[in-house]
Amino acid sequence: MDYQALADLLFPDVTEGREDVEARFPRRALPEGACVTRIGPSPTGFVHLGNLYNAIIGERLAHQSGGVFYLRVEDTDQKREVPGAVETVLDAMAYFGVRFDEGATAEGDNGAYGPYRQRQRKDIYHVFAKWLVEQGKAYPCFCTAEELDAVRAWQTAAKETTGYYGKYARCRDLPLETVRANLASGKPWVLRYRGETTDERIRVKDAIRGRLEMPRNNMDFVLLKSDGIPTYHFAHVVDDHLMQSTYIIRGEEWIASLPMHIELFRALGWPEPIYCHTATLVKMDGASKRKLSKRKDPELALSFYQQEGICQDAVWEFLLTLLNSNFEEWRIANPQTDYHDFPFTLEKMASSGALVDLEKLENISKEVICRMSADQVYDNWLSWCRLYQPQFAALLETYPDKTLAALNVGKGGKKPRKDLTGWKQACGFMSFYYDETFTVEEEMPPEVDEATRRAFFAGYLERYDHAADSAAWFAMVKELTGELGFAVKPKDYKKHPEDYRGSIVHTTNMLRIALTGHANAPDIWEVSHVLGEETVRARLGRYL
Ligand code: GLU
Repeated sequence: MDYQALADLLFPDVTEGREDVEARFPRRALPEGACVTRIGPSPTGFVHLGNLYNAIIGERLAHQSGGVFYLRVEDTDQKREVPGAVETVLDAMAYFGVRFDEGATAEGDNGAYGPYRQRQRKDIYHVFAKWLVEQGKAYPCFCTAEELDAVRAWQTAAKETTGYYGKYARCRDLPLETVRANLASGKPWVLRYRGETTDERIRVKDAIRGRLEMPRNNMDFVLLKSDGIPTYHFAHVVDDHLMQSTYIIRGEEWIASLPMHIELFRALGWPEPIYCHTATLVKMDGASKRKLSKRKDPELALSFYQQEGICQDAVWEFLLTLLNSNFEEWRIANPQTDYHDFPFTLEKMASSGALVDLEKLENISKEVICRMSADQVYDNWLSWCRLYQPQFAALLETYPDKTLAALNVGKGGKKPRKDLTGWKQACGFMSFYYDETFTVEEEMPPEVDEATRRAFFAGYLERYDHAADSAAWFAMVKELTGELGFAVKPKDYKKHPEDYRGSIVHTTNMLRIALTGHANAPDIWEVSHVLGEETVRARLGRYL
């Protein structure tokens, strides 16, 4: 077979050689040991938590080592593409503070190793495809879907390995004339790799899983689809070689196709990168774990965390606890340090299911927000509100001083309050500070009937001195509580419930509900000073 003639027939427009292309992607000038990493999201419109999980690994490896982290849009599957999906990925990554050094951006490409959208790299793939044909390592296949189905059915019935290989690879050695005639008649074709029939095994050292051993590829897998666009396998090898990725961080679902990738790196004579196959995200379902599902689990979508207003740092810290088993220990020892200073390593990564536990995320989120200054909380919360709750953003902008004072309530001291778990939740929790959003939905404690309420608030408003300090104010509350027949000490009421109508717990809960709408609210004296005397009097006056 004249492979050169076949190559020219299939790729008449390709005039460049592989050296010409390689010359356009010169070696990167990077310090010794620098890692080059990437994420390769497909623009399907769905960005999942796994994308961020893998992005964090790549970002940390690259930026800890003085390397490069880039974004490549893997848009070879046109059927799955959704308009605007690239922007969705970029927005999600920006929301979570993932910083790229190069790659696709909303404005176009940034960097010297582009294009960073695979469909725009078609002519690059064709140069290497043509070279493989010249070497006798690739050939055109004209089989139709129906023909392939028939072979598969036959193989299944005969209990043989299914696929296009060996004697089943009917187009392997078509005469040049047949190829020419098929092309002339416009028959669609794909380009296949010529696999070897072999029992050899391959060994790959995965940076997360250790040694992987599997049979060497023997399939004639597809390199170029009928529209000339490469498959993931071919694009991955060509791009990661030319863009010089040193680490391939991707989900474990790709392990099964690793033999094809290794085969291609070897056929093309290129060094293999280091593979890091990450654990699948799982959740508890009753007593057992299962894979997160796009259909059943909203928390798989990154947009869920954006919409819920879980702050960027909390999601990072949560994923870092999943990624590196020693992160939590490090956080306890370094409570104030930026998480970017945590020494992330691949050695500490688990290779089995990463457990997504929303309760844990909420706890981390509380801690993260609690560590922020009131100013930082204000800025972050406001940015989120501008995107997701513009009406609340307007409130924050109308009352910046009150909001900052409110955010400082319960902040100091040994045991600061941890009321906020996210920005959406903050809009609910903090709504009582603004007359525009204040409502009372919680029931008053049953110990206080309407007459008692009226008596309490009347006495309270009469004696209320907004200038009094917290101790003087509390003395007044106790006095009033006692006068109405409630125990000033909760334990007295517990011991002798028959002697009292209730305790100070009930009177202060009533006060808290009247002022904030909730029995579980921060310190009444502090809240009153954020609200101001007029508001306090107006809210309590409603009960007279
Ligand atoms: N486009 C692939 C995916 O979305 C990326 C895999 C890789 O990073 O190589 O799964």
